[in-house]
Amino acid sequence: MHPVVYVIIVVVVVYAIIMIARAVNRGANSHFICPKCGNDFQVTGAKYAFSPKTFTSHDVTCPKCGYHGFMEVQPGKK
Ligand SMILES: [Zn+2]
Repeated sequence: MHPVVYVIIVVVVVYAIIMIARAVNRGANSHFICPKCGNDFQVTGAKYAFSPKTFTSHDVTCPKCGYHGFMEVQPGKK
């Protein structure tokens, strides 16, 4: 393979790691409020990083009542 291909692969992998690390960090500093029972909860960084999302909400599950759906991201820890 051409050496440039390796450079591109490294750049893409490093970029992906940075994006995941940033998402995990963001997840650790935000929480959700369940629209069904009002429970205030946080999800793990990994769950936050890999859950389906829009710009302002994430597809998460309430640990208290089991409600599953898109919930708006609330800034700050719980
Ligand atoms: Zn709930």
